[in-house]
Amino acid sequence: MRVIYPGSFDPVTNGHLDIISRASKIYDEVIVCVLINNSKNYLFTMDERIEMLEDILYDYNNVKVAKYSGLLIDFAKENQADAIIRGIRAVSDYETELQFAQMNKVYSGGVVETLFMVAEPKYSYLSSSIVKEIASFNRDVSGLVPKNVANKIKNKFN
Ligand code: ADP
Repeated sequence: MRVIYPGSFDPVTNGHLDIISRASKIYDEVIVCVLINNSKNYLFTMDERIEMLEDILYDYNNVKVAKYSGLLIDFAKENQADAIIRGIRAVSDYETELQFAQMNKVYSGGVVETLFMVAEPKYSYLSSSIVKEIASFNRDVSGLVPKNVANKIKNKFN
């Protein structure tokens, strides 16, 4: 089975990495897809986000990194993916994700499935936004993100 794990990854956190790692053990192939969402303001450029992901995922033989500026269901169809994976941290995630999952199902003509993976409790409070908030006050985020990402964030705020 080939699955897609889409997101902004601005930047990738240990919570994202945990989902990728778990998914890579269950499925034959995982495509991490960095999406371009014009309504969002990003700290890192698309190329920077891709580079950080590629660095971290170098040793994962069945994980690929891609970017896409269109509709996720089109990417899923173009890549003949069996499903989209999303991480659920709390009920609030579930409410939004349920809506997206149902919309993607309807707009793909019933083809694109979404699977939810529950966050590890130790990462359930963790988000890219929280990491950026803490880093913006010059606090250490090395426990929340992979090492290369922590360095990149430090450089951004210095
Ligand atoms: P988006 O802007 O699409 O929500 P994110 O990069 O914030 O993109 O998140 C991508 C996916 O990873 C989403 O499904 C999100 O719920 C999930 N996710 C984010 N943080 C965590 C975490 N700490 N643990 C598990 N899943 C997470």
